[in-house]
Amino acid sequence: MAMKTVNQAETIALGRRLGEHLEKGMTIILRGELAAGKTTFTKGIGEALNIREVINSPTFTILKIYEGNLTLYHVDAYRLEGNSYDLGISEYEDDGITVIEWPEYYEEYLPEEYLEVNFTYIDDDSREIDFIPHGEKYMKIAEEMTC
Ligand code: ADP
Ligand code: MG
Repeated sequence: MAMKTVNQAETIALGRRLGEHLEKGMTIILRGELAAGKTTFTKGIGEALNIREVINSPTFTILKIYEGNLTLYHVDAYRLEGNSYDLGISEYEDDGITVIEWPEYYEEYLPEEYLEVNFTYIDDDSREIDFIPHGEKYMKIAEEMTC
């Protein structure tokens, strides 16, 4: 089932809700076009993890690490484009939360299991947001996010 947010604050709140359910070692991939709300949603995850630093997506930074209740590994793979480049996620994903924007540019290195979140642009202020579990441990979370 899809959720709908009608402004930026609602997307942050939805990200915060997801953040409250996350457990160490989980990976979230965020799919959607430019300005679909992926980074906005990640800000909400950061709030849930009590991260004080401002979460953003600097143009040339591919991986940013934030410390909160858990460590947040925030990947923005946009700049990788078609170039195959292993960020070594498999080595650190177990000790924090990994959030990946533009997973289509990082497909070959994604873990086997993750929660997929799809963002669809409806109009200037509205987005449709879907949660798709890949793997057993994400099923309950996906369900909780859509009720
Ligand atoms: P992405 O990381 O997917 O490129 P951003 O989160 O950086 O997207 O940007 C989303 C932009 O859309 C922001 O400028 C934000 O203010 C605007 N916006 C408008 N409505 C929404 C909404 N419902 N959810 C998220 N962002 C929204
Ligand atoms: Mg972004």
